[in-house]
Amino acid sequence: MKKIFVLSGLSLFLLSACGSNNEEAKGGNEGNIGEGLYVTASFSVLADMTEAVLGERGEVDYIVPIGEEPHEYEPVPSDFRKVNESDVFYTNGLNLEEWLERIMDNAADTEIIEISEGVEPIPLEGEEAPDPHAWLSPKNAEYYIDNITADLSERDPEGAEIFEENAENYKQEIEDLSAEIEEGTAEIEEDQRMIIVSENAFKYFAEDFGFDSDGIWEMNSHEEGTSGQINRIIDVIQEREVPAVFVESTVDPRYMETVADNSGVEIAGEVYTDAIGEEGSEAASYIDMMRHNAETFIEGLSGNEAE
Ligand SMILES: [Zn+2]
Repeated sequence: MKKIFVLSGLSLFLLSACGSNNEEAKGGNEGNIGEGLYVTASFSVLADMTEAVLGERGEVDYIVPIGEEPHEYEPVPSDFRKVNESDVFYTNGLNLEEWLERIMDNAADTEIIEISEGVEPIPLEGEEAPDPHAWLSPKNAEYYIDNITADLSERDPEGAEIFEENAENYKQEIEDLSAEIEEGTAEIEEDQRMIIVSENAFKYFAEDFGFDSDGIWEMNSHEEGTSGQINRIIDVIQEREVPAVFVESTVDPRYMETVADNSGVEIAGEVYTDAIGEEGSEAASYIDMMRHNAETFIEGLSGNEAE
């Protein structure tokens, strides 16, 4: 992820050094500065995927900082500026960015593209609205990548061949990862294939790899960690004899600590759902975060060290 920071810092420097001619700032292929596209994504996972396809032909930025969750984020003025200066703004859609209207009100000219298009939505428990966490399925990631590739190619036709090649390589890496997860998780016993985290965000992952999933609460923008929710999940853990639970990098761990203490199971590690990991961490890219999650589940649920 280093490049994202370096490039966005550079683009800010260039912008301030060259004044604020908006056409130039918008990039495209005409201006002297900002050669290539400038894309902003709503959160870090989408930015990482975009960077993999865009490669050297532009810059990628994102709005929600790593460590924060993208459901109820409150955009600040510099976010409006980023989106305004971008050639395009990539969102997940599927009910994720509840703050999108504020961006639209303040950055009306920039086109917004939902890059989850094509995904078969899984509804939230007891609701019709979709669960937004489709990126946690490697199969769905391919829709994201195809949508990114199509959009970038339209905006920068000269780069189309490169985008296509980058996307093919990236999708191959994701297919390899998927096979690796399939193989690694195969050692988890049938009755222990249950992922329990704070926010019930692993539905798409669970569907791909044959798990059940649950959470203390259904989605971060809903009510979080009421005693009713905590008691319910303790019952589920005890009934299913779940060997371990997990906590997310973007959620306050205290709720899950209460659950673990009261149900007598261990928190077997931290997983990444709504953000990639910090630079230098074991989950600093989409692929690394997915691999880390799978290894954490394998260790926690099978009692074996993941290789
Ligand atoms: Zn979430």
